[in-house]
Amino acid sequence: MRRRVSIFGSTGSIGCNTVDLLRHQGGVESFDVIALTGGARVDLLARQARELEAEIAVTAYPEHLKTLRQALEGTGIKAAAGPEAIAEAAARETDWTMSAIGGCAGLEPGLISLKHGGILALANKESLVTAGPLMLATAQKYGATILPVDSEHSAIFQALVGEDISNVTRMILTASGGPFRNWSHAQLAAATPEQAVAHPNWDMGKMISVDSASMFNKALEMIEAKEFYQVDPKIIEVIIHPQSVVHSMIGHVDGTLMAHMGVPDMRFAIGYALNWPKRRSLPIKNLDLAALGALEFEAPDEQRFPPLRLAREVMMAGGLSGAVFNAAKETAYGAFMARQIGFLDMAALVEQVLSAEIDLCDLKSTTIDLETVLSVDQQVRIKTAEAVKLRQAS
Ligand code: NDP
Ligand code: MG
Repeated sequence: MRRRVSIFGSTGSIGCNTVDLLRHQGGVESFDVIALTGGARVDLLARQARELEAEIAVTAYPEHLKTLRQALEGTGIKAAAGPEAIAEAAARETDWTMSAIGGCAGLEPGLISLKHGGILALANKESLVTAGPLMLATAQKYGATILPVDSEHSAIFQALVGEDISNVTRMILTASGGPFRNWSHAQLAAATPEQAVAHPNWDMGKMISVDSASMFNKALEMIEAKEFYQVDPKIIEVIIHPQSVVHSMIGHVDGTLMAHMGVPDMRFAIGYALNWPKRRSLPIKNLDLAALGALEFEAPDEQRFPPLRLAREVMMAGGLSGAVFNAAKETAYGAFMARQIGFLDMAALVEQVLSAEIDLCDLKSTTIDLETVLSVDQQVRIKTAEAVKLRQAS
């Protein structure tokens, strides 16, 4: 059966892996590609759109529209630009949509595409962190299915097949520990953006790579797990596993642990979501356990990596605190990449903003709708940017 598919963020790391799998599974012979969207990499976007004969290609940035139009000339593929055009593309019906825009910008398109039912393969973890209840309620209202693509959440999803989630007593997210796993506090304080983006095991976009180095990524994933699986935050654990071969585990009431294993390759999780509820062969090499020899596990150090502690605060506070946490984190990330603040300042700033916001208003009782989430996101970005300036001045 031919399926209509769209990819939001097709030029990114997850997006390119998704295109690769579409190609592997027959490309235009098997899929009607509706929309592909990207940002600055318009040449790549145009190449993907030509190859997959997309209906529409959209760049997030209007200044790139001219180049995109030129690159698509004579193909009949519509070119468009800007957030409104991305939202319009998301409203086009599909059977399967990949949500792989980075950051909070991915929330609205994912939410819109839930409204035409079908499957939303969700890589954009920020959607669940900032607006989990809204995502789940919208999926339920419109009969859409959200499938997790984050490798940990996909691993848990797969380990849960045939199981009763009420018997799950542990959700153990594995974390590679990133490039700074063994770095001292002093080394972390001096870490540069170049060092932070160089992830040892996974080839990912810049922001998630830096988030992996700081453990903000794992913090987002703890909140993502709580929101998606609707579990008590107390059952969510993090374990450092440098080889990234065990993608996560669930523990049952009888003490059994079920793990999902494989080489670190995001096409496992994307392919599972693409073929769910079936499985198909994927162009990924087999895991060679004998060559690997040993798997290591160690407890995370929350002194050096405070985001894990902050995630617990967010999970307990609930409501809009995830939106506050993410907006502060994205702003602090921008300031670190611009060399305005140091690596450890990111967590310090997020903690400062988060505790001020939690004290300021009852984040729990506020309704979670898109407008409120985006407005909190904007306000927190402004406040965090001000806090960055004060930190620079001091
Ligand atoms: P990338 O940075 O590689 O890709 C992000 C995509 O979003 C690109 O297509 C980019 O376009 C596009 N984009 C950039 N800015 C905007 C904007 N303002 N509006 C709309 N689109 C924009 O990120 P990743 O692929 O690494 O990550 C995507 C999402 O998936 C994130 O939420 C991440 O946390 C999640 N994820 C990623 C994993 C990974 O292995 N990479 C693993 C698990 C989750 P362009 O590049 O053309 O500028
Ligand atoms: Mg992950």
